[in-house]
Amino acid sequence: MCGIVGYVGRKPVANLLIEGLKRLEYRGYDSAGIAVVTEKGLKVGRSVGRVRVLEELVQTTGGFEGFLGIAHTRWATHGSPSERNAHPHRGTSRKGDTIAVVHNGIIENYVALKKYLTDKGHVFESETDTEVLAKLIAELYDGNLEHAVQSALREVTGAYAIAVISDHEPHTLVCARKGSPLIIGIAENAYVIASDPSAIIAHTTQVLTLDDYQVARLCAGAADRASGEPWAVEFRTTTIDNVPVSRDVQELELDLQQIELGGYDHFMLKEIMEQPESIRNCLRGRIDQREAKVVLGGLNKLVRDLVRAKRFLLTAQGTAYHAGLIGEYLLQDLAKIPAQCEYASEFRYRNPIIEDGTVAVAVSQSGETADTLAALREAKERGATAIGVVNVVGSTIARDTDAGVYLHVGPEIGVASTKAFVGQVTVLTLIALYLGKRRFLSDDVVRAYLTELEKMPEHIRRVLEHSDMIHDSVARHVHRNNWLFLGRGYNYPVALEGALKLKEISYIHAEGMPAAEMKHGPIALIDEGMPVVFVATRGSQYDKVISNIQEVRARGGRVLAVATEGDDHIHQYADAVFPVPDVPEPLQPIVTVIPLQLVAYHAAVLRGLDVDKPRNLAKSVTVE
Ligand code: GLU
Repeated sequence: MCGIVGYVGRKPVANLLIEGLKRLEYRGYDSAGIAVVTEKGLKVGRSVGRVRVLEELVQTTGGFEGFLGIAHTRWATHGSPSERNAHPHRGTSRKGDTIAVVHNGIIENYVALKKYLTDKGHVFESETDTEVLAKLIAELYDGNLEHAVQSALREVTGAYAIAVISDHEPHTLVCARKGSPLIIGIAENAYVIASDPSAIIAHTTQVLTLDDYQVARLCAGAADRASGEPWAVEFRTTTIDNVPVSRDVQELELDLQQIELGGYDHFMLKEIMEQPESIRNCLRGRIDQREAKVVLGGLNKLVRDLVRAKRFLLTAQGTAYHAGLIGEYLLQDLAKIPAQCEYASEFRYRNPIIEDGTVAVAVSQSGETADTLAALREAKERGATAIGVVNVVGSTIARDTDAGVYLHVGPEIGVASTKAFVGQVTVLTLIALYLGKRRFLSDDVVRAYLTELEKMPEHIRRVLEHSDMIHDSVARHVHRNNWLFLGRGYNYPVALEGALKLKEISYIHAEGMPAAEMKHGPIALIDEGMPVVFVATRGSQYDKVISNIQEVRARGGRVLAVATEGDDHIHQYADAVFPVPDVPEPLQPIVTVIPLQLVAYHAAVLRGLDVDKPRNLAKSVTVE
């Protein structure tokens, strides 16, 4: 959700933190702030808006010279986006030491804690839940920051990733997490922490991660401050109960190039265009043509449970929910297992019945989606076997599941998900074939699907060649404020996804629905010139979709149709045709969603909007 960066080491910290925040900008945020321990004490700067504004503030006001600091981009949950509510938040100890905290997450019991601290004489300046944490740590501080953080976190319920510093301990950075992501980079003579690897990779590839309820104390400094020698670095990891825990140092597998624009105007366009490559990576090593089987090492230890499963329950939110809906069709069709996809947020709170033999599948790009994580935990507690379909390696969902399959599509920076969606659908197809092969499907059928799957990168590349044509068609309709997206069968969730994409980045109101549903009400919306996007590829319901298209045309609607290459028939009904290769119905979503991603992208650019930072949205939604 928000971004956290922290540093303790030998380099001047202010610019380094600002650079780190810039790498996290894509996550979505509304304000930013920085705190540095300087010779003159703790220096804090905060501002509303872009990191650029904070950078200017730091440069113009000056006084941020130091070697220990923390910084934050906030995505408000408690209190409006304002300078006063921006992090870092501060508290003052009884001896007068200042504590500064940045926080990602929500402190659920903040009202009770606020009352307790107000009674103790602390004066609150913000409306945030986070400030409670700063004051509580200050209240408990008696010269040992690590202990004060541990004690404070024992009083707290909710979700957090935090970084904490004090002007009394100029060489010490303390961080902790529960529920929200946090990574510790071990650099030369320094530590750098962040909520996201992209802010760490410029400094080091050696990282540590923390589990829930764990705290790290990171120290870097010189015994003799005047000469700066000898320099020592050390870290310690504990639980919030001060029990030491050992954490393995891991190698961060992320290429800096991958997270930069590489010549494209926007991350979203880059990610759309690199889908042939990302899907090739997603499929790599997973298709064994000779044996006609799918290789998913991550599921092997559970294979017996999965094959005998009575029901699959997919849970997700947003774009991942649409992938999950396609997964529902795939599992039923190819593996003959009853499957159902639900919004994680709804599933969790309706006292769900989990029968024996239920497999819960959490689908999430970041692996940190709070709603999905909570649903997963609920399903597990009620006896379900849990598997994850996530992109970010080592993320909380990946670690909380019994087994899983990574997307391997590379980091997704654009807030509107594109390649992760196609990766999710591809992985769900692989899972359905992995199980289908062990249940009902013959080798020949599996082999035929695998052959088609292997062609997907090339198929996607062919669809992408139509980008300019799609741009020109969208340009003719982009002034319209209401759009419909319609599809049937496997392409019904694709229609939902097309509508969501358009809403997210172009702020055009769009609705997706099953094509047949239109005549049960929404057809009343259709007037002269209203754009209606149909996914009308060849398949079992083609003729019915053509009838729906005619119903729209008869009322003056403008039809933009995603259709099978070589379908000349459809041109007489459609104002524009976006061709996709002819693939079997269960694999169609992988190609039919691509033109819809381009429709949304071009619409947003034509409307002059900031595609990579759509208003009000955040990349990974780590609050419920
Ligand atoms: N709950 C905190 C706030 O509203 C942190 C939000 C965030 O994760 O950025 O300030």
